[in-house]
Amino acid sequence: MSTKEAHPDRYIDEMFANHTGVLARLVPGYAARDGQIQLVHAIHDTIAKQGVLLGEAPTGTGKTLAYLIPSIMHAIRSGRPALVVTANKALQEQLIEKDLPLLVNAFRAYNPAFTFSYQLIKGRSNYLCLREMEAFNASGLLGGAENLEEAQALSAWGLITNTGDQSDAPSSVSQRTWSAFSTSGDRCTRRACAFHEHCFADRALDEAEQANVVVANYDLFFSKLLYANEPMWARFSTIIFDEAHEAANIARRCFGREVSLGHINQLATDVSKYLGDHNLARAMRNTATPFFEEVMRYALNMDTPRVCEPDFVRAVELIDVVDDAMRAAKGKCGGCDDDARCGTCAYRTLIHDRAKAIIEQIQEFVSQSNDSTAYWIEKPYDAGRVTAQNVRLRSVPYRVGDQLSQRVFERYPAVIAVSATLTSGGSFDFIRDELGLTSTPPTRVTVKHKDGTETDGIDLLAHVWKFAPYNSNDGDDDINVRGLRVPTPFNYAKQAKFVVPLGIPWPISENDAIFNHAAAEAIKQLIHDCQGRVLALFTSWRRLKYVAEKLAGNIDYPLLVQGDAPNKILAQMFRDDTNSVLLATKSFWMGLDVQGESLSCLVIDKLPLESFDDPLIDMMKQRHPETFWNDFYFPRAAIELAQGAGRLIRSTTDRGVFVLLDSRILVKSYGGMMCRSLPFVGVSKSLADAGKFLTSPSP
Ligand code: SF4
Repeated sequence: MSTKEAHPDRYIDEMFANHTGVLARLVPGYAARDGQIQLVHAIHDTIAKQGVLLGEAPTGTGKTLAYLIPSIMHAIRSGRPALVVTANKALQEQLIEKDLPLLVNAFRAYNPAFTFSYQLIKGRSNYLCLREMEAFNASGLLGGAENLEEAQALSAWGLITNTGDQSDAPSSVSQRTWSAFSTSGDRCTRRACAFHEHCFADRALDEAEQANVVVANYDLFFSKLLYANEPMWARFSTIIFDEAHEAANIARRCFGREVSLGHINQLATDVSKYLGDHNLARAMRNTATPFFEEVMRYALNMDTPRVCEPDFVRAVELIDVVDDAMRAAKGKCGGCDDDARCGTCAYRTLIHDRAKAIIEQIQEFVSQSNDSTAYWIEKPYDAGRVTAQNVRLRSVPYRVGDQLSQRVFERYPAVIAVSATLTSGGSFDFIRDELGLTSTPPTRVTVKHKDGTETDGIDLLAHVWKFAPYNSNDGDDDINVRGLRVPTPFNYAKQAKFVVPLGIPWPISENDAIFNHAAAEAIKQLIHDCQGRVLALFTSWRRLKYVAEKLAGNIDYPLLVQGDAPNKILAQMFRDDTNSVLLATKSFWMGLDVQGESLSCLVIDKLPLESFDDPLIDMMKQRHPETFWNDFYFPRAAIELAQGAGRLIRSTTDRGVFVLLDSRILVKSYGGMMCRSLPFVGVSKSLADAGKFLTSPSP
């Protein structure tokens, strides 16, 4: 350890100090923030002592640098890398293009010996597959002729690209054409592939294996935890979950399953192509089509969001024919010396494993054997468009906490979960429960002995999580999960106003038409009073369209509506034209960053209470009626509302009004918890106060 390293956390002062620190020298306008410094120290401590930190850091805290700097420092000192897991592409781009390059310079400035490398890693389908490209070049065919030009452009690009990354590919190429030139993990033959040595996906993986910091998204990380045992994913000493409020929901989707006619037809194509068994492939298609036609008929007649009827469809013939495929693919090809390097053997294994997974999925779906899983048939909203080709059997587990606890929190030495919104009503209880970090009473187990006798005991292997608020002076080694809420750097009392206008009917189904009308009128009034500068976020597309129609031609400011242009372009137009108005749905709810006057008034139409048409919500309500509302349903909505409200104040110079058109927040018993999840001080009940606040001089 150099003199500079005599104090293990001295680097924090040297990096973050105002005026004289490394960041102050490298970042124009840099200012240290109390919340950021608190978070850095807590993260440093958690990595050093090992454990889990739940860190709520409001917008403007600078949480990215707060988690990157201590985890990079630990990676450099320990030689064990850190993994940053993110929920969206924009954050990945920010990390790779802005924050990590900045920190390479910052660490070098702190100590020239402190160098580190970083790498973004994506799922296999994001990279050009050389095998698929070769298949196209050999045949010159790709689906319909309309894609031929795109395919030729992609093939030409494939010869010159260094990365093979979809984000570098010609922008004219559609997702459909890209899919034909890429492959998924369950169709890739890896080391047995003739193109393995030059494979773009494997090259990126090799580079990630050497990096000190790896950035990945939740989907990739969770799928690796479930299906693969690749050493690369075991070597991290620190895992950062950014946007951690999303982690459990994404885990549900990743740990869930789906089967469609397309999956079985794809398997049949591979049976024909790689096993040479055309009769079996035909039999698979001929059995799968009537099966999914029956599923489609059932789906069209369902009046519940979930399938709650075991054996609702006869699956035995389909299972038998997929079982034939599994058996046909079993074993080696018989014509090779080294099956580990034999492409035919590798295809056989992939077909075997996919057939096995499909059988298990159909069996589980039809028997609905798992109590804590929601089973449903996914189909287009419009009944006229439902076909056997577009229905899917879907299943999603409700409880993912146990899996996350075992596969992430118990497995890696330090896990830092950060977000602007982790608590609901000021409590970490909901997020701890979602992530599997609650202390459960020791489980009683019964052990059966060989002689037939049984003994009762406690499951000593069960992991116990102990939670406490983070306190830097606390030396209690038993505490392995800590929660920290750092203060906002913004002055909400001066910078913002929260308005919940009275007199608007509640947005409940009986009031749909009158609420839509009242919402359109209120938004029109706000646009007038605030001179445009309004972002209105809707919880339903139907309401957005209704309001857009009512406003078109009736306001004096440019109207931007989601769907009229790609989201990125709309967001930029809204930023650039200060007086414009943007109407959008939940895709703008998280991640939209508009600083300055362009976003002076944020409107949310309705509390984001989830619909009971959602199969997961329906299942939770039926199965856990005692805990559903207060432990699950309302806390989820509170976190989401806080995320949406977080679009308003993005810098210390922003001023703005948040108008919620749903006065249930003032009346209902859950409203207090929702209000406590928001950063505003006080609430006004008059719509006119919005415009008055914006025109009043800044205090
Ligand atoms: S290893 Fe082969 S099949 Fe797999 S992605 Fe690379 S080129 Fe494609």
